[in-house]
Amino acid sequence: MNKITLFLCFTLVLGLFTSCKKNGTGVFLFSVQDDVDLGAKVDAEIKSSGEFTILDRSSNAAAYNYLNTMRDQILAGGAVTFKDEFAWELNIIDDDSTLNAFCTPGGYIYVYTGLIKYLKNSSSLAGVMGHEMAHADRRHSSSQLQQQYGLDILLSLLSSTTGQNGELLGNVAASLTSLAFSRADEKEADKYSVDYLCPTAYDAAGAARFFEKIGTSSTPAFLSTHPNPENRVANINADADALTCSEDLENPDVVSGVPYTDFQAMF
Ligand SMILES: [Zn+2]
Repeated sequence: MNKITLFLCFTLVLGLFTSCKKNGTGVFLFSVQDDVDLGAKVDAEIKSSGEFTILDRSSNAAAYNYLNTMRDQILAGGAVTFKDEFAWELNIIDDDSTLNAFCTPGGYIYVYTGLIKYLKNSSSLAGVMGHEMAHADRRHSSSQLQQQYGLDILLSLLSSTTGQNGELLGNVAASLTSLAFSRADEKEADKYSVDYLCPTAYDAAGAARFFEKIGTSSTPAFLSTHPNPENRVANINADADALTCSEDLENPDVVSGVPYTDFQAMF
């Protein structure tokens, strides 16, 4: 193999990895169906492990209705790639002391009561929700898990029956609560959050409102410290300004007739 051929091959391999990882069509290692299956397994583990106190749906119907309405508005905007393929199921974790939200591959979304109480309006929450949904929809989370655990181990997890690989499944579930995404993935999730919210009544730069409130000192791991919060606010605002987004469709702080402060008071 001469040098030019070798160079072309190397470039082709690099190009494949770049394009496959970014296009979200499932040709890179995991299939979209693998994301769906892994998400369902991890979600079942999170719910059965006893590590998390997940608020019951029937006795917290109003709170779940609020979040589901917000999710449906985001999905109705048409910018989510795997709108119909992924579960997009909301879960509320009863933990006032934790500022966190995360989303499994395949779209099982977990929001802590601590985050809901900390944010000041519905657009901020919609921005964070959009950001977390983007990590699943752009397949950052499954890609990150592949890097962390390796493809073979994750595939063995998918093919195992209930009761097998319990410890591994627990470890993967725990990893998801604090996955360290790359700088590029964080930036992309911020951008897609804007795209998702743009057609809705929420402030398309809602995620930036979160960073403005939290400042530069203590950004929690789930939104990562890189790129730095100031740059993220500027980038998110610029992305929103570059689009012609819906405005004043309704008062976004009233979701299904419920003001955000009333929603916060449900916990
Ligand atoms: Zn993130």
